[in-house]
Amino acid sequence: MFRITVEDTFAAGHYLRNYRGKCENPHGHNYRIRVTLEGEELDRAGLLLDFKDLKEALKPTVDRLDHQMINDLEPFTATNPSAENLARYFFTEIRERLQRSTNGRVAVRRVTVFETETTTASYFE
Ligand SMILES: [Zn+2]
Repeated sequence: MFRITVEDTFAAGHYLRNYRGKCENPHGHNYRIRVTLEGEELDRAGLLLDFKDLKEALKPTVDRLDHQMINDLEPFTATNPSAENLARYFFTEIRERLQRSTNGRVAVRRVTVFETETTTASYFE
């Protein structure tokens, strides 16, 4: 099995509903997203996926959230924009794009969202 990982960052605001504490009030984070893919077969160049292509698969989702209030965007108008739910959102968005571009050769293994340097949440299936 091969795995590759890339990271990207964005800044955005959010607040947590049904939560008592500092995060119930609107505030911002400098988020870091770490995406790991895996697969058994390499392409003809010997790559699981070009890092550039993985960054491109991640970019539309990052661009959609960058400098926004995440609570105002679907599905986070209803789903709390916790680091856990953001990780699942990135996971499903990237999986859909890679399914199309690699015909299922490459799978998303794990998405980790860093809300701060020392706090992360991951989603995988
Ligand atoms: Zn927060």
